Amino acid sequence: MSEIVKVGLGARSYDIHVGRGLLAQAGDLLKPFARGTVPVVTDENVARIHLAALSNSGLDVKPIVLAPGEGTKSFTGLEKLSSELLRSGVDRGGLIVALGGGVIGDLTGFAAGILKRGIAFAQIPTTLLAQVDSSVGGKTAINTAEGKNLVGLFHQPRIVIADIDVLSTLPKRELLCGYAEVLKYGALGDRAFFEWLEANGAKALGGDAGAMVHAVAHSCRMKAAIVERDERETGERALLNLGHTFGHALEAATGFSDRLLHGEGVAIGMALAFRLSVRLGLCPGQDAERFVRHLKAIGLPSSITDIPGERASADALIAHMAHDKKAKDGRLRFILVRAIGEAFETDAVPVEALRTVLSS
Ligand code: ADP
Ligand code: ZN
Repeated sequence: MSEIVKVGLGARSYDIHVGRGLLAQAGDLLKPFARGTVPVVTDENVARIHLAALSNSGLDVKPIVLAPGEGTKSFTGLEKLSSELLRSGVDRGGLIVALGGGVIGDLTGFAAGILKRGIAFAQIPTTLLAQVDSSVGGKTAINTAEGKNLVGLFHQPRIVIADIDVLSTLPKRELLCGYAEVLKYGALGDRAFFEWLEANGAKALGGDAGAMVHAVAHSCRMKAAIVERDERETGERALLNLGHTFGHALEAATGFSDRLLHGEGVAIGMALAFRLSVRLGLCPGQDAERFVRHLKAIGLPSSITDIPGERASADALIAHMAHDKKAKDGRLRFILVRAIGEAFETDAVPVEALRTVLSS
């Protein structure tokens, strides 16, 4: 029960291994890329549960354990990690391993990309979100006071190891957040996959390993195909932002707090993209209803009113969108849908329609 997804990027190509029990095999999988000391960057939660599996890998592992949470993905966190990595003895021909969720993967990838002008790194994502999204495609970044992920670079990993067994220790809410990104792939480009998720998504989330391996591998396959065609997001890769313009605005309006996690913002954001598409006469209403029905069935939020606490105004949300780094030439850009499985990018959205959808 294991799959290998290839990311074809010429000299920067790599394999994504998806399956069960892969942590125990990580030593063998990493060996071809490792040389000397192998720093393994992780956070306290992941270290407590999953680090031991790597300590017995036969590699000369040097754990670097950071504080969990988004705050670690900062200049301060980068400075601290950089000196730990430089002191670890890893050389330019060596390998740095990121073992954790998106925070660890983004920060470690960035550090690996700039230290000694670039050191190879491997991703061992331990959240569903990181397995299907952030560990694949080479985007790395930290957050600054000006916004999230505004400082970073493209640095592709040499290998990605997604062991779905590690998801069993993930809090349910985090698991659902990752599922929102899985669903995104169906919504943006693969109706058959969406239908498969309608039938099997709950099973995958409920612990059916075969279903989860398929969900993760298929998501990675879709992301890999898009990244292969548009590595640096000059076009098609933008479709991966479905739900994200809205989602980021909602995250910003709730202060990036645990009132709304990223995947929850994306779930509501996708529902809003469907509603806006219907309003503009671009998408059949029954596709929007069907999409929202699945969000609800699986336990994800689908409306701004699902967010606890005071509701942000439409204008406040639009102001947050205008600050998003994806706004080009001052025009807001949106990923909308013609149907489930058919997303496209546009900057032609009348602000009245936007305001109506954000107020509904
Ligand atoms: P994301 O991948 O969603 O961006 P983070 O890197 O912030 O997320 O991880 C989310 C939280 O889940 C963190 O507190 C992290 O320590 C914890 N975590 C990550 N992987 C696991 C796991 N496999 N089991 C339990 N907790 C985990
Ligand atoms: Zn996302």
